[in-house]
Amino acid sequence: MSAIAFIGLGHMGLPMAANLVKAGHAVAAFDLSAAARATAAEAGVPLAESGAEAARGADVVVTMLPKGAHVLAAYRELLPAASPDALFIDSSTIDIADARAAHAAATGAGRRFADAPVSGGVPGATAGTLTFMVGADEAVFKSAEPVLAAMGRRVVHCGGPGAGQAAKICNNMILGVSMIAVSEAFALGERLGLEYQALFDVAANASGQCWALTANCPAPGPVPASPANRDYAPGFATALMAKDLGLAASAARASGLDARLGLAAADIYDDFNADGGAGLDFSAIFTRIRERHV
Ligand code: NAD
Repeated sequence: MSAIAFIGLGHMGLPMAANLVKAGHAVAAFDLSAAARATAAEAGVPLAESGAEAARGADVVVTMLPKGAHVLAAYRELLPAASPDALFIDSSTIDIADARAAHAAATGAGRRFADAPVSGGVPGATAGTLTFMVGADEAVFKSAEPVLAAMGRRVVHCGGPGAGQAAKICNNMILGVSMIAVSEAFALGERLGLEYQALFDVAANASGQCWALTANCPAPGPVPASPANRDYAPGFATALMAKDLGLAASAARASGLDARLGLAAADIYDDFNADGGAGLDFSAIFTRIRERHV
């Protein structure tokens, strides 16, 4: 059992913190939002008065915050409050440069650090079946692993600091591009007179098979659990996909890679995000694509 400070009790953080409590850890949690704190209290997650109070005496400090700027700002308060050998785990999805800056701030203050972003969304966070992608030195990974295992099913060591964020944005670049590809195929099939179900029955059993098709099909009908069958309620919101593709696009540019489809996907999701799609599941891009004419 560890003493764990958990900072950020939003859509993902609250169920993750609840799973740490369930696993028997001594959790002290904090969120800047009073509403998030009230929901956490109802869910039985013990609260602290501030981030610093949560971190005081903690063996492990987990952050689950929106962006890199939030993580770096929170670390200014959390790092000095934590005990000297505390392990800092950031599970937010943030820029690789920010993850490396967080690593530098933590190690500069004598603390250990792992970036450990997640895949699996709110359902995975609730069920404790997340996949963690971890960037850390080997010894730090070994100490983070048992804590992460209480919130997820798979914990993958991707390499040194920043490697977890790199794996996360590369995976989500595949997802964004493949969702657009599946949506264009269904829109084209429709114009060619194909039923959604017929195209699904072929592609799901052929070389077009992918998660965007078989688990999150953007066309309503073939996959009953898909957000397409409930007015595209997320799921994984377009705003988050746009954010992750933006991170992937800036990493591609910084590394000089001509990732044309990744950059195009970032533009397509940026436009949809700014034009009414932000709160919809990212598969709703299908509704926009099928309206398009050249
Ligand atoms: P969210 O906006 O629901 O929650 C973030 C919480 O952080 C908010 O409650 C906010 O009040 C709090 N916060 C911000 N700054 C703070 C600070 N300094 N101290 C304490 N609390 C602070 O976001 P979310 O959906 O839970 O996502 C969190 C991270 O996980 C993001 O980086 C997101 O990209 C990533 N992620 C989300 C999903 C998903 O499906 N929602 C899936 C995978 C990864």
